[in-house]
Amino acid sequence: MQIKRKKLRRLKRRIKAWAARILVLTVMILMGVLCLRLGLWILKDPADLETMFEGARIVENAGEEKEGSPLIVLDAGHGGRDQGTSAGSILEKEINLSVVKRLAGILEDAGAAVLLTREDDTKVGLEDRANFANQKEAEFFVSIHCNYCEDDAGVIGLECYYRDGSTEGEALANQIVSRMEETEEISCRGTRIGDFRVLNKTEMPAVLVEIGYLSNQGERMKLADEAYQKLLTEKLAEGILAAASSEP
Ligand code: ZN
Repeated sequence: MQIKRKKLRRLKRRIKAWAARILVLTVMILMGVLCLRLGLWILKDPADLETMFEGARIVENAGEEKEGSPLIVLDAGHGGRDQGTSAGSILEKEINLSVVKRLAGILEDAGAAVLLTREDDTKVGLEDRANFANQKEAEFFVSIHCNYCEDDAGVIGLECYYRDGSTEGEALANQIVSRMEETEEISCRGTRIGDFRVLNKTEMPAVLVEIGYLSNQGERMKLADEAYQKLLTEKLAEGILAAASSEP
């Protein structure tokens, strides 16, 4: 009996010892995996930020990059599940994106470097849009939106907003509006101070352009029209480039 009990005790001790070893080994493996993951995360190239913005891209200039060419971040409002305003089949998010793409093309042709916060139908957070422009140290940030007036379908006209206290933002808005006023085809309601997240969170001169009212049938048809978008984006580009060339 005595011998049997001794054997049993020894066996128990051995099992305990093995269990402890397995436990220590498991913890060590888990810690190893954790350290590896942490290391990979720290080593991650900051350029990977771009993967956060699926729509973002750096547009290479076709020709030689001009010395001191401005970097402009263009922001097509809304996207994905966030459609913005709409009227019938016309969706704000689609008009915004179409206008931004046209504008990007004109600015690139003029030698500017352009980045988009989205170039397809994806949802991008408001602060992510502003942070993106800040990280890229853009010279200008231009956000494109369409307006809607519930109470009065007669209201029309483009409005150009800048953040309170930003003299450079105001100068950019003034340049854009003065180009709009050169043509009778575009109704313009002037510049305004706007309390928008993308304006408050960006660190460079920034404007949010409400390019027109989808609630007005006439303006809605214009905004969806290619020839009108062409004119509108030419005037927007002229205003942005004028502000860029008058920067100190
Ligand atoms: Zn909008």
